[in-house]
Amino acid sequence: MPSGVYLRTEEHKQKLSKARKGRKLSEEAKRRRRKPLQFIRNKNGCFIITSHKGDKDGYIKLKRNHKKKLVHRLVYEKHFGFIPEGMLVCHKCDNPACINPKHLFLGTIADNSADMVQKGRSLRGEKNAAAKLKESDVHKIKKMLKDKISQVRIAKLFGVTKMNINAIKMGRTWAWLEGGAV
Ligand SMILES: [Zn+2]
Repeated sequence: MPSGVYLRTEEHKQKLSKARKGRKLSEEAKRRRRKPLQFIRNKNGCFIITSHKGDKDGYIKLKRNHKKKLVHRLVYEKHFGFIPEGMLVCHKCDNPACINPKHLFLGTIADNSADMVQKGRSLRGEKNAAAKLKESDVHKIKKMLKDKISQVRIAKLFGVTKMNINAIKMGRTWAWLEGGAV
């Protein structure tokens, strides 16, 4: 046996890193690798996540099976089971970073809008506030969406709900205008 140090060639290194990438981690190993979820409890009983940053609307997403999932939906599923397709998990407390299962409820998109109106989160609260927008507004909104301005900000500027802006973004309303879904 020759003695000494074997230097790894580029080829060796590549093979090694490939082997490492291909290695399947057990569920347990994956769990250990994850950043622990930490939260604090506020006076309203909300469990507010402090360990992870939220998106522009304050919602926190975690990676599960290579997909980003909303953490409050994961918590809901864990406590109450399967979420039917098309249903939203809404917050009674209006706090997107809250994961107290008691504060979560299932709702449709319509329920969520109605809930927002009831809580005064919508400035006008009409059932179809998007109909209040003029065509020129919608052009502006589409432009702002393309410029990646947050839906919440746009909604506030035009005095409609974020749902309305989202409907425009997804092409559910005003799709006949140039551009369709953004
Ligand atoms: Zn809460």
